[in-house]
Amino acid sequence: MRCAVCGVGGAQLCASCRKRLPRLAPPLCDRCGAPTAWPVARCRECSGRRLSFASARAAVAYDDDVRRLVRAWKERGLRRLAAEAAEVVVGVVPSPSCGAVAFVPPDRGRSLERGHHPAERLARELGERWSLPVLTLIRRTRSVPRQRGLALALRRRNVAGAFGPASEAPRAVVLVDDVYTSGATAASAASALRKGGARRVEVVTFARVVR
Ligand SMILES: [Zn+2]
Ligand SMILES: [Zn+2]
Repeated sequence: MRCAVCGVGGAQLCASCRKRLPRLAPPLCDRCGAPTAWPVARCRECSGRRLSFASARAAVAYDDDVRRLVRAWKERGLRRLAAEAAEVVVGVVPSPSCGAVAFVPPDRGRSLERGHHPAERLARELGERWSLPVLTLIRRTRSVPRQRGLALALRRRNVAGAFGPASEAPRAVVLVDDVYTSGATAASAASALRKGGARRVEVVTFARVVR
């Protein structure tokens, strides 16, 4: 067994790489969780955007090491890493005051390729730690072309209306995903939760792209 980040033998994530993960600390944008120079209600990244979630928080910045870690977790299916990621999230992100955990549902084609679904694994690990039920509240209404490499405006158009409610949602829901990139997926999935009856959606991800 080798560390997914540095390759040293012994664990899927070695102690020194775990310690070095670029944890995100305040001040943050209150809405989208972007690191800011001082606390703000909305930041340059999210101001003027209609976001259907109340807040988004992530544990670590999506740098090259984290990218390697997430890739190993998602593409090589190293399940132990979902538990590692959950431990880091619980240490960094304040526990949400919500009634249930939801996750961004897998794209059918792609999840079959990998044989497991990273966002759901992370949601289950977090649900256990927060003592919250994990519910399937969101479904895909259509397949979304890969987001990778798309400009921000295209990403938004790409995922708009891609999700719908799968069942009635509790009043406040935590929405879990692995990486927050442009916020387009989170916003679209959160809006499905709102359609399902949620009044408040808090997004929590393991990593976040920091611009
Ligand atoms: Zn390492
Ligand atoms: Zn913001």
